[in-house]
Amino acid sequence: MKPRALVVGLGIAGMSSAISLKKNGWEPIIVERAPERRTGGYFIGLNDIGKEAAEKLGVTAGIHVRTPENSENWHLTGDGSRVRVAGFADQPTKPATLLRGDIEAGLWQAVDGQIEVRFATTPIEIAEGGERVHVRLRHADEAETEETFDLVVGADGLRSTVRKMVFGPHEEFMHSLNAIICAYQLSGQIETFRPRDGIILNDGPRSLYVFPLQDHTPTALFSYRTDDIDAQFKKPPVETLREAYKDMKSSGIVDEALSDLERAGKNYLFDSVHEVRMPKWHKGRVVLVGDSAWCLTLYSGVGASMAMKGGYELGEAVSVTKGDVATGLAKWEETLRPMVKKELRLVWFKSQIFVPTNGFMFIVRRLVLRLGGRYIAKLSQGPGAAA
Ligand SMILES: Cc1cc2nc3c(=O)[nH]c(=O)nc-3n(C[C@H](O)[C@H](O)[C@H](O)COP(=O)(O)OP(=O)(O)OC[C@H]3O[C@@H](n4cnc5c(N)ncnc54)[C@H](O)[C@@H]3O)c2cc1C
Repeated sequence: MKPRALVVGLGIAGMSSAISLKKNGWEPIIVERAPERRTGGYFIGLNDIGKEAAEKLGVTAGIHVRTPENSENWHLTGDGSRVRVAGFADQPTKPATLLRGDIEAGLWQAVDGQIEVRFATTPIEIAEGGERVHVRLRHADEAETEETFDLVVGADGLRSTVRKMVFGPHEEFMHSLNAIICAYQLSGQIETFRPRDGIILNDGPRSLYVFPLQDHTPTALFSYRTDDIDAQFKKPPVETLREAYKDMKSSGIVDEALSDLERAGKNYLFDSVHEVRMPKWHKGRVVLVGDSAWCLTLYSGVGASMAMKGGYELGEAVSVTKGDVATGLAKWEETLRPMVKKELRLVWFKSQIFVPTNGFMFIVRRLVLRLGGRYIAKLSQGPGAAA
């Protein structure tokens, strides 16, 4: 009989882990708190680490990439003029740009009908120790069942229940960046811009990015710093954002984007930004993968890629052909930790592009965006022009 793994969470980390575990001789069972699979989501860049993991998981063909051709990105200055700058997809690493839902849809093709998925189900007790893990699960109808697994994978995101139950309280591992984000899909491009244009507005520790996508409307990302995180959740997000951006010179773009947020219903993400730092990602036969283990925040631009990589490597490390699970988990952690450590070190610097912490970083951000823009403009004039 195959060893059974409970995977908690049907996100990028959970599906990647389950697909890889299955390939490596396990019987994974995914439980997801939501009543159904989510779709859509926000703008994401997938770098080489993610692309390689997708390839190894065999899901590349199912992932719809939406990087627009001949995209131009514009920084809107306080007086309303537009300056060409570098956009997300212009990074030297050339990330593929798409929606989070596009990655999940690709992974789902390797899960649907092939791996058991139980929706509206969540663990409420996990007893680890020894060779088996005993888990009490609560289902949609409030019924509770008890099951035993050979491995439990906590892929349940930033505020992980598995982490809380097995490793310790959120406060021990979640570190606030004193920032708020709001991400959602716009119903159309901002007036007077072309569909494939990216737009960047920033003013001190607050910004609005409009990310262009091929075959899709653009997405908006509001991001600002605040020392009073709790206060940001007292009113509806649209009101909170209006207040936070009220005196920003934006030629009406902030208002236009916020009108769309009013129409977005529940299809938006409004949240505080936290890193997750943990000294160890596994305990006995319980292991954390993705944001639950090492949330790198949106600013890193690599969370989705690392979630896929982590899931893929997990299955390989505990392959039934390799034997001992404990050794496999230790090796898995040894492989991933240096990569995650490096990315965690970069989060603060990368966050400065969105929400600089002081005046000096504000100037650095402007220089980075504009020099990048000049480079891109020269490149588009032909070979050799950028030298
Ligand atoms: C605005 C924004 C932009 C981003 N941009 C990028 C980018 O450009 N590039 C990049 O690589 N990364 C980016 N990221 C980060 C990336 O989206 C995440 O790192 C990645 O999606 C994390 O996946 P995950 O599966 O670990 O967690 P999640 O996506 O949080 O999935 C967790 C799943 O577990 C489920 N769950 C939670 N609790 C329970 C429970 N108790 N029981 C059962 N199920 C549960 C949830 O419903 C969910 O389905 C961005 C993030 C944000 C917010």
